[in-house]
Amino acid sequence: MGLDDLYQEIILEHYKQPRNKGHIENPDIELNGKNPFCGDEIKIFIKLKDNVVDQVAFEGSGCAISQASASVMTEMIKGKTIEEAKKLIDSFASMVKGEGCPVDLQELDDMAAFQGISEFPTRVKCALLAWKTLEQGIKKKTEKKDHSD
Ligand code: ZN
Repeated sequence: MGLDDLYQEIILEHYKQPRNKGHIENPDIELNGKNPFCGDEIKIFIKLKDNVVDQVAFEGSGCAISQASASVMTEMIKGKTIEEAKKLIDSFASMVKGEGCPVDLQELDDMAAFQGISEFPTRVKCALLAWKTLEQGIKKKTEKKDHSD
């Protein structure tokens, strides 16, 4: 089995058995994301504890890449601080855009399965949907905090 096949297996496995699928009551971050090019939809729920992602879940429908990417994203950010999550978003985005990955691929775990997506420009938006939604959710949350301070 080649590396590409292995990566495809990882994506399909996450698609068939998504991690953290569902929703969270009274989340600190809740945001919808849509990729009109493919019809992918995602909704992310996050509960924070001392600036750390304590609970995370997603709901959604769409292509295998968008849903698998969301599943991987929830696994990767759980237990991470907001700052660490932001770094993961940046790493993932540059990887799928083919701009090279700023960190060791091994650190990315299942995220690395998406590196081949850069060869398929139309699928990049699918892979990025969950991550971009997360990014916007964090932005919304931190902006809100700035206002109340
Ligand atoms: Zn898609």
